[in-house]
Amino acid sequence: MEEAAWIKLDVLANGVAVDESVSQRCARGDIAERRNVYNTPLWAESGRALPQEIRIGECVVGINVYGQDDWSLVHDVGSDMGFLRHKDTSAHFPIEYIDNLTTLARPASAHVTNIYGGAALAFFSPRSCYFFSDDTACGFCSLKGTARDTRDEFKTLLSEQDVELAVRRALTDDPGRIEQVMIVGGNLRDLDRGFRHHVALARSASRAIASFGLENEVSVHIATMPPHDQDLIELLSELPNPHVMFNLEVWDQTRFSEICPGKDADYGRERILAALDQLVVALGPYRAHSILIAGLEAPTTTLSGAQALAQRGVSPIINVYHSDMHSRIGLGDRPSFADLAEIAEGLQALYTDYPILPYWRNCGRNAIDREAQMGRFDCPRPAFL
Ligand code: SF4
Repeated sequence: MEEAAWIKLDVLANGVAVDESVSQRCARGDIAERRNVYNTPLWAESGRALPQEIRIGECVVGINVYGQDDWSLVHDVGSDMGFLRHKDTSAHFPIEYIDNLTTLARPASAHVTNIYGGAALAFFSPRSCYFFSDDTACGFCSLKGTARDTRDEFKTLLSEQDVELAVRRALTDDPGRIEQVMIVGGNLRDLDRGFRHHVALARSASRAIASFGLENEVSVHIATMPPHDQDLIELLSELPNPHVMFNLEVWDQTRFSEICPGKDADYGRERILAALDQLVVALGPYRAHSILIAGLEAPTTTLSGAQALAQRGVSPIINVYHSDMHSRIGLGDRPSFADLAEIAEGLQALYTDYPILPYWRNCGRNAIDREAQMGRFDCPRPAFL
């Protein structure tokens, strides 16, 4: 479907309501359902089963339900297929649901991991961040409220053994499904200790992957705050070909202070850039990543940042802002389709000019990097958008 990437942009900008027919389809238990780990963009839904994401053509799209959504997701019982429908036009498109992982039926796995975008096995540890204690959390982050309000079974702090065993079980139970393992957190106040924790979990994942001989098929990814002692970044060179991200979130310094007051006060934008430079040295060009959130600053600023990162050997990651419940910004700031389209076209050009890489390979539900890498913003926008 040629226009799938553009539809993904509009669904992310304007939200999707989920019809009861889809929840009834979810009841069969074979679809990857939403399990709250830290982001909760579900303002108008509670207590019923929802897919965590869907696939439109080749694009994985997050399900963000805002309450006044332009799209609806419905399930047609006759054809046993799901469809996306636009509220103001006759446009409707078939979608695919994303299969659940067999391994998540095991409580020992369900307590420690999740499937993300159908292809990433995600480990979130610690499930807390000291910026919330200091009242300096990032404005888009819903970690604390989600952990407080959801009575789920996720462990708060994972061990190396938790990760190694869960990766082994996933590779055994669901052969061919996992393309990447993601280690992400939460941050400890001692950033050096937190960084070592994430490296240790990644090392355990790599060990499990190597025991299956899959180190060329399954990559290991870490999203973390950089350590204060930047010499610790060298620890990453022990890992076989990891991808690592230190996230700026926004490019403009003033906006960085507003959106990420804890990162600004305790680390600073310039030191994050210095840490990214060191990451490029440790991992090689373009395996270091940094997220810029589309919608939290002007499109031209996001694109300037993406270009500046690419020039220094860092792969920029463009994540579309999703308005999470429990976050400080909430529904107060939303990107328009026009803004996202401008960023997508600029990102497309960057993929022509630099050998930058997506962080999420085929599973970026709110990210648009894989679509740009595939050249999907090179075609005209659909007339109805
Ligand atoms: S660093 Fe920011 S985005 Fe990450 S967990 Fe802490 S508050 Fe949330």
